[in-house]
Amino acid sequence: MDKKNVCVVFDLDDTLYLERDYVRSGFRVVGEWCAERLGLEGVQEQAQALFDQGRRGDIFDAALDRLGVGRDAGTVSTMVRIYREHAPQIKLLPDAVECLARLQDRVYLGLLTDGNPVSQWAKIDALGLRDRFDTTVVTGEWGIEFSKPHVRGYRHLESQSGTCSGRFVYVADNPSKDFLAPRTLGWNGIRVRRPAGLHEHQGCSSDLARFEVSNLEPVPDLVSELYKTQF
Ligand SMILES: [Mg+2]
Repeated sequence: MDKKNVCVVFDLDDTLYLERDYVRSGFRVVGEWCAERLGLEGVQEQAQALFDQGRRGDIFDAALDRLGVGRDAGTVSTMVRIYREHAPQIKLLPDAVECLARLQDRVYLGLLTDGNPVSQWAKIDALGLRDRFDTTVVTGEWGIEFSKPHVRGYRHLESQSGTCSGRFVYVADNPSKDFLAPRTLGWNGIRVRRPAGLHEHQGCSSDLARFEVSNLEPVPDLVSELYKTQF
């Protein structure tokens, strides 16, 4: 089968690398900024502790509170900007390196990710993925309303990938949003449930994702099985 006849699309966060590593990297950079510019130590440790306890959405406010520093909207928004714009210390997981190498040039390769476009492209660059995919979609460039499960990103990949008609796979980790549009569009879903992934404890019905794997190593063989191709 021609390589352009099967399209395999990957999610980014917690699919190709561990999102926890990005969070840790961001807290470190914000902590350094607070120490240098505000003379305030301990922000990284407080933010990390809050994150590990499950806190989301207002971690920097809460970290400043814990350190006994009065909240200041300007400081918090600068911390958020530094976090979002930092060049992260993250790496592709070894199974992701191997999986992409096996699929490269054999299938149409896509990347589909939500999130702030500045942050997502900084991650893509840190992972060396800018030129790795035939099509990369960062839905945040269109606006937050096009985040998954919106179909626009998936449809864009369908239109870009030429002759893959009916042969699409999405490989992703979040059962709440990643597989709803693929199901509607008739794609196959492969759910990666990584130990230490942020959605590790969330179940996913086989109705949403056909296969569940703990890393990407089996993915090329599953794609072969689905579409009778050999890699
Ligand atoms: Mg993800």
